[in-house]
Amino acid sequence: MSDILKSVTVRDPGEKEFHQAVKEVVESVQPVLDRNPEYRQAAVMERITEPERVIMFRVPWMDDQGQAHVNRGFRIEMNSAIGPYKGGLRFHPSVNLSILKFLAFEQVFKNALTTLSMGGGKGGSDFDPKGKSDNEVMRFCQGFMAELSRHIGPDTDVPAGDIGVGAREIGYLFGMYKKLRNEFTGVLTGKSLNWGGSLIRPEATGYGCVYFAAEMLNTKNDTLQGKTCLVSGSGNVAQFTAEKLIELGAKVVTFSDSSGCIYDDKGIDSDKLEFVKRLKNIRRGRIREYADKYSEAVYTEADGSADHNFLWDHKADCAFPCATQNEINEKDAANLLGNGISLVSEGANMPCNPEAINVFLDKKIFYAPGKAANAGGVAVSGLEMAQNSMRLNWPREEVDNRLKLIMKSIHKTCLDAAAEYGEPGNYMAGANIAGFLKVVNAMLDQGLV
Ligand code: NDP
Repeated sequence: MSDILKSVTVRDPGEKEFHQAVKEVVESVQPVLDRNPEYRQAAVMERITEPERVIMFRVPWMDDQGQAHVNRGFRIEMNSAIGPYKGGLRFHPSVNLSILKFLAFEQVFKNALTTLSMGGGKGGSDFDPKGKSDNEVMRFCQGFMAELSRHIGPDTDVPAGDIGVGAREIGYLFGMYKKLRNEFTGVLTGKSLNWGGSLIRPEATGYGCVYFAAEMLNTKNDTLQGKTCLVSGSGNVAQFTAEKLIELGAKVVTFSDSSGCIYDDKGIDSDKLEFVKRLKNIRRGRIREYADKYSEAVYTEADGSADHNFLWDHKADCAFPCATQNEINEKDAANLLGNGISLVSEGANMPCNPEAINVFLDKKIFYAPGKAANAGGVAVSGLEMAQNSMRLNWPREEVDNRLKLIMKSIHKTCLDAAAEYGEPGNYMAGANIAGFLKVVNAMLDQGLV
């Protein structure tokens, strides 16, 4: 184990997701450190793995029956070398310091790849919006923002959504910030269109993930037309990944949620996708209901004790994991290869565990890490910030074209960096190296702060 990994593990024992994310980057950037001894002298690894600031706070809130509850709120301000902290808020019962530190760490490199000026951060709470009324969610968001508002601002730290934080939650959070600060600013992204949001922001992560996949295939003069695709999750990223895949002529056959997955051999077309959007975004139901509605679909209940995830058991050409971290293990990866998968593009953050990634890299299939493939979401958040600063709204085509150009540029940046450091075709190494170089060079320019 490298010295830096050892010290991170000893200093923050138990933060296994954070260690996993750090290990991947440390291994990728080894050749950069070997070529640039001044980085060691400046302790860049020690600095980049230590958050600039960690904020933890109590969030008391009251349910509809008058019962008081307490959740824990967090904001990790990881690195501001190239811009204000930027990254989503996650509301999910699994949220803890390790998960948010891994996400904030990933975000630093991802944001650097977008070509925009954004540092990295992440936050959230172990609050579970599932099964809560709108009023309960509103009261929680107001309590959360009562504390968070002291630490964020349009030039300081600009949160967005993530798992469990969509348009509804961003609305309540923004309303409370505005009331407390008496300021209407671009302090959050993912806002609704008529009060400062950007066109294409809801679509951006999913669309970007598909644009990245298309770029990879393009290197072999291939396209997504006619490809069978597995998509996991059924939230924001999964829905718009599926939407763009359908538009480009691919056949999407799966969706999932934390309870189970559906497989539709006939393909999920635009009408079926509309059903999923209404089911998940408006009725907030379970994906099982897809199989009740469409008899050609098969629903399989998730089994936490199984050694693999049933969603990855089907024959297909491409896989788009869009649910959560570590949803593809080594066995899943082997199943995917056995079923004909030749491309994996990560819509979620760190959905493949390290063993699974090694399976993909060994077989030299197209593997796009989340920090590159899902960077479209934060990129359009950056464009939302730019529009807010100018008090302008760009048309849909303009934002979509910018998103396409950014994804193209990230793709090239990854390939170029991978080739320069002796790992041609390895998008993971390329993403880590290119993101790292941009951030550490800015840190060195700014002195020991
Ligand atoms: P949503 O909350 O909209 O959807 C999350 C989906 O994943 C839901 O279908 C959810 O099922 C499922 N899911 C969540 N946790 C688990 C779990 N532990 N096991 C199985 N399924 C689970 O979130 P997003 O679509 O926004 O985010 C999905 C992924 O994409 C995350 O990794 C996020 O960090 C990443 N991402 C999101 C971006 C964005 O712009 N939103 C940007 C970049 C990355 P259920 O409904 O049952 O909870």
